Amino acid sequence: MKKTLLIDIDDTLINSFELPIVNQFLGTNYGEEDFKSYIQEIFTDPSEMERFHEFLFTQKVYGDDTIKVKDDAIRVVKKLSKAYSVYLCSDYTFWQKPWESDRFFVGKFHFLKRHFNFISPLQHIFLKEKQLLQADIMIDDRIENFGENIRQRILFSAYHNKTISSDELRDRGIIRVDTWSDIESLLLDSKKRGDN
Ligand SMILES: [Mg+2]
Repeated sequence: MKKTLLIDIDDTLINSFELPIVNQFLGTNYGEEDFKSYIQEIFTDPSEMERFHEFLFTQKVYGDDTIKVKDDAIRVVKKLSKAYSVYLCSDYTFWQKPWESDRFFVGKFHFLKRHFNFISPLQHIFLKEKQLLQADIMIDDRIENFGENIRQRILFSAYHNKTISSDELRDRGIIRVDTWSDIESLLLDSKKRGDN
């Protein structure tokens, strides 16, 4: 039986969907490297945050004109999908306006249909509380998402998790990877050697 592998979408398969919208809203040209914590934390004034949210809800999300798929992600996930039972696992809710989150769900679904159609929608998991999930392996950019029932925890490096120390990751039983090519080496090359 193939091992189960959960793969996150935002900041794992793709770069931040929010950053291009923040740049458009502010008239700036920030890159992810300009942030050490979550991009929305740039809005320290609650009224500006509210205006940004209103703007965000007028924008097309997960369109090919703004989303960048990470290098090698499609190629490596395609290979992984042959060796593992792969599930794409992602939250779509916008917690400030949960009942208006449908645009994020629809945008993400159509993005997956365009770029990851080799993973069936039957293997999509849209869930905020990912800690509830059980799997052999999980790849995610948020350490909070690794629950007790994940055997191998792989943190995908993102602008907002760079300051998490290697000591903390070790204590939590998490390993860090920086690229999809790293994942290929870790989960596919080691599989050939029989380690996984
Ligand atoms: Mg993510």
